[in-house]
Amino acid sequence: MTAIAAICPCRAPAAVLPAAALPYASLPYTACCGRYHAGSLHLLAPTAEALMRSRYSAFVLELTDYLLATWHARTRPAVIEPNSIGLKWLGLEVRHCGLQDADHATVEFIARSKLGGRAQRLHETSRFVRESGRWFYLDGESR
Ligand SMILES: [Zn+2]
Repeated sequence: MTAIAAICPCRAPAAVLPAAALPYASLPYTACCGRYHAGSLHLLAPTAEALMRSRYSAFVLELTDYLLATWHARTRPAVIEPNSIGLKWLGLEVRHCGLQDADHATVEFIARSKLGGRAQRLHETSRFVRESGRWFYLDGESR
């Protein structure tokens, strides 16, 4: 695991502001995804977007236990490969959140990274399901 940065890797805004107001102040890690990563707090991501952000941050910090724990048992892989050597995550942009019903949601996002000097971009719409009050990542569709 890499060192915990002061600003959360997901760069969630400290306040909800229109995109035009960017750049905005970001939440510190401990007040953002860190709350959900620290299992001892038993704090669950309250929304699909919060879970999606916390999973992005977990990818950045290589918290594979958290990634597996928040992946639905139906689609969860046996193991999660560590980040490629030299991979640098650059940021997350949540484009759209949709709620199909109280327990099914989608989150469209773009995650940017750089590997070996080459920029990479993952544009995905992820599906989330809530069971017993807990959100899980189900699967995603690349866009
Ligand atoms: Zn965060």
